[in-house]
Amino acid sequence: MRKMLVTALLLTLPALVNAGRLIRIPMNTDSDFTLVRDMGYEVTAGSRRDGWVDVMVNQRFVDETLARYPEAKLLPLEWSELLPVSETDSRNEMGYYYGPNENAAFWATLAAGSDMVDTPTSYGTSFQGRDLYFVRITNAPAGAPAILFTSLTHAREPGGNSVLIDWAQWLTTEYGSDTMATFILNNAQIYIVPIVNPDGYEYNNPNGGNQRKNMNYTVPVASSGIDLNRNYSFMWGYDDSGSSPDPYSETYRGESALSESETLAETQWIDSIQPLGGFHYHTYGGLLLYPYGYNNSPTPHQSTFQGWAAQMTELNGYEYGRCGEILYDVNGDAVDWSYGASTHSPMLFYTPEVDDAGFWGSQNDTTAIVTNNAECRYMNKLLCMNLLSMAGIGEETSAQFDGAAFGITLQSNPVSAVLGYTVTGASSASVSILDVAGRVVAAPSDGSWVIPENMQNGVYFIRAESGNKAATERFTVLR
Ligand SMILES: [Zn+2]
Repeated sequence: MRKMLVTALLLTLPALVNAGRLIRIPMNTDSDFTLVRDMGYEVTAGSRRDGWVDVMVNQRFVDETLARYPEAKLLPLEWSELLPVSETDSRNEMGYYYGPNENAAFWATLAAGSDMVDTPTSYGTSFQGRDLYFVRITNAPAGAPAILFTSLTHAREPGGNSVLIDWAQWLTTEYGSDTMATFILNNAQIYIVPIVNPDGYEYNNPNGGNQRKNMNYTVPVASSGIDLNRNYSFMWGYDDSGSSPDPYSETYRGESALSESETLAETQWIDSIQPLGGFHYHTYGGLLLYPYGYNNSPTPHQSTFQGWAAQMTELNGYEYGRCGEILYDVNGDAVDWSYGASTHSPMLFYTPEVDDAGFWGSQNDTTAIVTNNAECRYMNKLLCMNLLSMAGIGEETSAQFDGAAFGITLQSNPVSAVLGYTVTGASSASVSILDVAGRVVAAPSDGSWVIPENMQNGVYFIRAESGNKAATERFTVLR
């Protein structure tokens, strides 16, 4: 039955008109890099540092492109489209990625199985009338800070969605045993929007290929949707290179800022929950991007964005920076809006570009998906710990006696190898490291403490005492 359906769709769906191939072109100089885009190629990923750029080319232009760039490499077909599943294959909608219906089932099941997970809740309706929904996971008191994760703003980028499914599963499964999962859910409201662009995602189901934009075909009739990640209202349409005024372009920004129901509903909802920050997930390339994208200028939070990015990418080696440093300037995107829009104070958002194999390349490869998820889970954890620590959660109030400014300051937090600390307000103090159960695990004395190799990742305390004064700070071990 299923196979018949797939065959029928193959014959009738207009999606195949869009069918394309990804080609990787080596780039040596900066002008090479911009030349490719100026020739009209659709750039899907790239890195100035590593000297490559991928372009999506209509099947008809593959030979011509390969002739123009003799060093270029045609990337595997499954990087750019979902291939039909065989009759014996147990995979469902979109290979090992989660399709639209599998997402709905996953989130409903997760909510049914845990008091900490709210039933998926609507925040609006898409252009074609589909539900736009979020899921909240928390065990924190009302009013605890919000942290937001989104994916599938671009409908052909399911790798980010897999990351968020893994993240939600990890948080709820490990709560109560992993100290970091416990700490995060006890102190934050984790919000997840798994599918920002449900119409485009449904269009790609089961093998429509590379629809990126939403499904608003009305302006003009022949166009193929609006790029939601160029439609946000901060610096919308700043110039024509960071977004396009051409409806046929894959970066078409729409007729006006927030013209699309998907972006309008999402931004109004985000303003209502006021997250501290978060990740707007995309694929691919293995990058971690932060604002400003529109003109490649540093924000007032540049050192925070950069410092956290360096820390978060320690494990996966993702290249980090502003979009314009790594690839090109981008205007009207979600990260710039999250940081810069006047409707809220700055929210510290990044765009991770998951290091997937193109858009659909892991469709047959659970190992690759699991690896990507684990690498990004580490970034998710670290981001939450950093945001909560910045909000004052995680810094225990130092007990004050005698009016003296007795305290303990950490050089960095979270820590991976060595915890550096300074005790102020006393000439000598005894220092101890405690686990969350209050057991003393070490007693350092010289301002630094090497984390033992066998120590579990998680939340710990460092406590300093001198006479009748005591101060405690919370820190996280994360490797
Ligand atoms: Zn994207």
